[in-house]
Amino acid sequence: MNPIARLRRVERARAEVSFTILIVEDDVEYASELAAALEHDGADTLTAHTCIDGVRLAHEHRPDAVLLDLGLPDGHGYEVARALRNECLAPEAAVVVLTASAIRDLAPAETIGVDLILNKPVDPDLLGGLLRHVHAQRKRKSSTR
Ligand code: CA
Repeated sequence: MNPIARLRRVERARAEVSFTILIVEDDVEYASELAAALEHDGADTLTAHTCIDGVRLAHEHRPDAVLLDLGLPDGHGYEVARALRNECLAPEAAVVVLTASAIRDLAPAETIGVDLILNKPVDPDLLGGLLRHVHAQRKRKSSTR
């Protein structure tokens, strides 16, 4: 194979594994810290600081994973999760909540399709691998259903 064809093939393979993560977090500094770590890990990121922007970006870009804060200026993260699951996410898309408050009752989150709830602070370097893992699990599940 000639070098250009080989390069094209590598680029195509890379594009196929592209992984887009939507971050919905109103703490601007924390959101950009998360984005930097996830990009370093090879993901593409989109950042929203409000529910309404999060929903809009999800519709536009169909992310593979969503990292969701709960306390947002214009609503609760669960509303975003519900809207995204109902409206635009692929079945394998991962939805992970990041919150500073202790949540003991996981049932409401599970009902609306949240995969995981993590308590802040979270090591941002671990998030990329975790989101890919949840995504892969959901993919396996949705293909065997
Ligand atoms: Ca918040």
